[in-house]
Amino acid sequence: MNMHFRCGYIAILGRPNVGKSTLLNHLIGQKLSITSRKPQTTRHQILGIKTTDDAQFVFVDTPGIHKGGKQALHRYLNRAARSIVQDMDLIVFVVEARRWEEQDDIVLSYIKEAKCPVMLVINKIDLIKDKDELLPYLEQVGGKHSFVGVVPVSANKNLQLDTLLDLIKQKLPESEAHYPPDQLTTRSSNFVAAEMIREKLVRLLGDELPYATTVEIEKFEDTKKLLRLHAIIWVERDNQKSIVIGKKGEKIKKIGVQARKDLQNFFEKKVHLETWVKVRKGWADDERALQQLGYIDEF
Ligand code: GDP
Repeated sequence: MNMHFRCGYIAILGRPNVGKSTLLNHLIGQKLSITSRKPQTTRHQILGIKTTDDAQFVFVDTPGIHKGGKQALHRYLNRAARSIVQDMDLIVFVVEARRWEEQDDIVLSYIKEAKCPVMLVINKIDLIKDKDELLPYLEQVGGKHSFVGVVPVSANKNLQLDTLLDLIKQKLPESEAHYPPDQLTTRSSNFVAAEMIREKLVRLLGDELPYATTVEIEKFEDTKKLLRLHAIIWVERDNQKSIVIGKKGEKIKKIGVQARKDLQNFFEKKVHLETWVKVRKGWADDERALQQLGYIDEF
């Protein structure tokens, strides 16, 4: 056991679309969280774990923080974000290189309540053509809080990510690893499967995807040769159901084919996947329904 091994919990916080999921995926080198152009796709807490020779990084990918949400879903997201601010070893606050928006201020106001150190990550620096623009922005944004570091990166171009990881490591407490080195997530196989199907929905439907869509794995049967999965795609209205199914079922078929490919790669097993689209009216306002679907869990 390395005497100076470090291990800690790191929350990645930021307004929708700044690149949190992309950053997490690139930092841990595995595709566990959804990325897309559509904001607010990451609603669950996802733990991504990266273990190196001298450190273990346990990343908590937070749900987005929403402003004045009326529905139960939004209330939950607010609570989840607040509880995460309480017990982390480090918060990585992600903003965009070119734009500081009102929502960034809202996230920052949560972060200011945190007792742990906060590192500022300025993402998407690849979009800055004139590098002279960057410095004044770094100074301006870096002055908004006493950050333990300000790191410009590009998550999807892998710029400065090794530097970032190294700086994060230095801020983690000396501690033994909390998880076995080969573990990538603490989420159940069930959860990972649902996320993979949801990712295909986001990719194939884009802006057409109804906001309240969610995926429930009704059956997860692991036999020696085969994984047998039954997935329900929940929507709120009948017309949303036909959007997800598509003309002559072509959308849902594509979603199934692509999800199955990813599932087989991830679980290293042949996968039999059946999907149904069902309508549950107004579920987003019903906390009990949320609980059943796993949105309210171990926070
Ligand atoms: P999240 O909502 O904060 O989790 O953001 P995502 O990770 O889903 O990213 C939102 C969008 O920004 C996606 O289209 C990403 O491909 C894009 N993106 C993420 N990182 C970068 C980056 O470093 N440079 C550029 N140009 N785009 C990025």
